[in-house]
This record gives sequence, structure tokens and C-alpha cells, in this order.
Amino acid sequence: MLIQFLTLFPEMFAGPFSCSMIKRAQERGLVTLETINFRDYAEDRHRTVDDTPYGGGPGMILKPEPIFKAVEAQTAKAGSKPYIILTTPQGEPFHQQTAAELSKLPHLLFICGHYEGFDERIRTLADRELSIGDYVLTGGELPAMVMADAVIRLLPGVLGDPQSAEQDSFSRGLLDYPQYTKPAEFRGMAVPAILLSGDHGKIEVWRRQQALLRTARRRPELLADLELSPAEREFLEKHQLTLDPEKKDLPMKGGN
Ligand code: SAM
Repeated sequence: MLIQFLTLFPEMFAGPFSCSMIKRAQERGLVTLETINFRDYAEDRHRTVDDTPYGGGPGMILKPEPIFKAVEAQTAKAGSKPYIILTTPQGEPFHQQTAAELSKLPHLLFICGHYEGFDERIRTLADRELSIGDYVLTGGELPAMVMADAVIRLLPGVLGDPQSAEQDSFSRGLLDYPQYTKPAEFRGMAVPAILLSGDHGKIEVWRRQQALLRTARRRPELLADLELSPAEREFLEKHQLTLDPEKKDLPMKGGN
């Protein structure tokens, strides 16, 4: 997979992409990451990429010409149009499911906005406008890195055990179940006995129940989209946990 980032600040990408699994994924040829400074596509003497907004108002707006030219150059180089993602807080919220869909594509190109925003005509380039949450960052670089990271870890061969991604929070519509490692007891806190039992059938049931409880307590709205077995419904009802996404009065803390 090829992932490109159109940005005015390519140096921001060096840290996150030069360590851990993303570094290894590149070394093993599973993904190629490229930053392209769209200032290189500005044609005037001062290499201008932004200007004041028509109609007045604060801040500077990214001009369309350098970004269009940069996209056209990458399309010509690759021989086909990349799937173009515009980073914007006004976009569709990015979810695990979005990451899974993007991980199937051969070539992604993220456009990282900056300053007050971008000229509205830049939207016409985008296949998809994505937001990483309801808050405003200074630029699209961090959102693009967040989304790329979530996509890359789903590429075959990136994670040591492909089951890790399958059981992650959100992948199966639930938050992940509680995890423990050695020691079996730490400062008076014991690992649940079932996990030491060696009974894999029972452990699987316990984990599923814990994931259900945790989701019902912390993110009850996720359960609305999930098909639960009658036994699972009964289990949640027994623990007096609502399946009504409108009711958010469940405690976040406390035992499982
Ligand atoms: N004035 C713009 C608005 O209210 O929609 C916000 C501009 S923001 C300061 C600059 C750039 O950062 C945006 O154009 C976008 O590329 C990026 N950005 C900021 N917050 C983001 C978010 N939550 N998700 C995705 N991109 C974001």
C-alpha cells in the first residue's frame, strides 16, 4: 500500500513513522509512506500557499492551485488516481470500520489542511472527508497520522498475530475485555481465577461477558448496533444493564 500526505510540515511525520510497528511495516515493504510539501507546487516567486478570505474574517485560507497541482502530479506519477482523504473537523467521524475499509485500498492520499482552513473548491478533490473528533487541531497532520496508523496496523503481516486486531475494541462492535499478565497477584489485586484455570472454553465465555459488561457500562450506544444472543441479553439484564442507548446513567467505575 502507498500512503501519501500533502502537507506544509513534512518534518512532523518523521517521529511517529520512524519507530515500532509502522517502522517495521515500511522496512518489510508492507507500506510505503511519502510526504509531499505542496508548497513545492506553488508557482509564484514567494511560493505562496495561502491568502486572506474573500468577504473578510480572521486567518489565512489555503489556496486551491498548489494542492490541485500536487494531486495531479501524484496521479500522473502513479498512473491512477489515489483515494483522496481530506482531513477536516467537518468530516464524517473516523471509526475502526473506516480504517478497515481504507486498509483494502492500494493508494491513499491525505490532504492536511492548516491555518484557518482551505478554499472550498479543494473539497471537490476528495473522495472522503474525515474527522478524528469534535475538536479543532492546528492542522491535518496529526489527524492524517492517526488515521494512517489505524489503517497500517490492519494490513496483513503488520501485527505479529492477526487475531490481535480482530479482538481489539470496536472490531467486533464491543470494547475489548480486561487483560492481565504476570504476576498473578500484585499489591493485593488478584487476577480473576478463571484466567488461571486453563479452561479455554470458560475463559472465552468470561471474556465475551466482560466485553459486554464493559461496553454496556462505558459505551452503551454501541450495543444498539449489535446482535446479541438471548443468553447474552439475559446476562446483561441479570446485571441490570440497559440496552437502551438513551440511558447513560451506568457507572463508569467499579467492579466488572
Ligand atoms: N476553521 C476550520 C473549521 O472550523 O472547520 C478549522 C481549521 S483547523 C484550525 C486547520 C486544519 O486542521 C483543518 O483544515 C483540517 O485539515 C485539520 N483539522 C483540525 N481539526 C481536525 C479534526 N478534528 N479532524 C480532522 N482534521 C482536523
